[in-house]
Amino acid sequence: MFETLSERLGGVFDRLTKQGALSEDDVRVALREVRVALLEADVSLPVARDFVKAVETKATGQAVTRSVTPGQQVVKIVHDELVKVLSGDTDPGTLKIDNPPAPILMVGLQGSGKTTTTAKLARRLKEREKKRVLMASLDTNRPAAMEQLAILGTQIGVDTLPIVKGESAVQIAKRAKQQATLGGYDVYMLDTAGRLHIDEVLMDEVQAVRDVASPRETLLVVDGLTGQDAVNVATEFDGKVGITGVVLTRMDGDGRGGAALSMRAVTGKPIRFVGLGEKMDALETFEASRVAGRILG
Ligand code: GDP
Repeated sequence: MFETLSERLGGVFDRLTKQGALSEDDVRVALREVRVALLEADVSLPVARDFVKAVETKATGQAVTRSVTPGQQVVKIVHDELVKVLSGDTDPGTLKIDNPPAPILMVGLQGSGKTTTTAKLARRLKEREKKRVLMASLDTNRPAAMEQLAILGTQIGVDTLPIVKGESAVQIAKRAKQQATLGGYDVYMLDTAGRLHIDEVLMDEVQAVRDVASPRETLLVVDGLTGQDAVNVATEFDGKVGITGVVLTRMDGDGRGGAALSMRAVTGKPIRFVGLGEKMDALETFEASRVAGRILG
C-alpha cells in the first residue's frame, strides 16, 4: 500500500519546530516526500522534478496559517499547483462538433482502449447531446477490431460504416465522410489502427487519414496506468498528427494516474475524458481536482 502524502509529511513536520512561515529547510524536506509521492503515482521523473521546483519557489516563505499544520499547508500548495497544471483552458467535456458532419479522429496504441473509448464517446454524444453518430474502424490489419466496433455499435444503438474487405484506411475514411454527409449524421468517428509500438508505418497512415478527414478533434487514447511511456506516446502523436486532447483509460484500476500530469506538462494538451471501466457508460469528463487528489493519495 502507498503511504499518503499527508501521512508522509505529518511525520516529517513532527520533527520540525513550528514557525510563523515555511522556511527553506521545511519546504526542502517536505518536497523530497512530494517527489517520492509523485514518482510512486507514476509521474515521469523530469516532470516530477520540474513540478517540485515550481512548488518550492511558491511555498518558501509562505505564512503558515494557524488552523493547519505546516504539513497540511504544503499538501494544499501541492494540490493547488497540481490542479493548475492539470486544468485546460477549455471545458474538457465539450467536443467541437458544429458544422455537421464533424469528424473525430481517435488515435493511440493497440490495447490502450481506443475502440472501447470510441464507442463510449459515441454513446455519450448520442445520449447527452442527441447527436446522430457514425463510427468507422480503420484497422485494416485486424478484422477482429473492425468487428468489435460493429458489435459495440449494435450494443449502444450507434451506426457503424459497413465493412468492405480490401480497402485502405484512407479509402475507408473517405467512404465514412461520404456516408456521413449523405446520411445526415452530425458526427463521424474514425477509429484508427493501433500498433504495439509507435512506428513510421503507423504514423504515415494516421497522417494520411488526418489529411483526408481534416478532423475537428483528434483524441489520443492512452492507458492511464502507464507513466513514462505515456509521455513518449503523447509527444510522438502530438508531433506527428497534432492532437486536441487526451483520453486516459483504466482510471478505475490501482494506478494513481500520474500519466495525466506527465502528458499535460509535456504536451500542453488537455485531458478531456477518463475511462473508468469496460462498460459503455464508464466514461467521465476529466476533473483536475479529482485526479490531483488521487495522485497525492
Ligand atoms: P484498442 O486495442 O486500443 O482498441 O483497445 P480496446 O478498446 O479493444 O480495449 C482493450 C481492453 O481494455 C478491452 O478489454 C477493454 O474492455 C478494456 N478497457 C478499455 N477501456 C477501459 C477502462 O477505462 N477501464 C478498464 N478497466 N478497461 C478498459
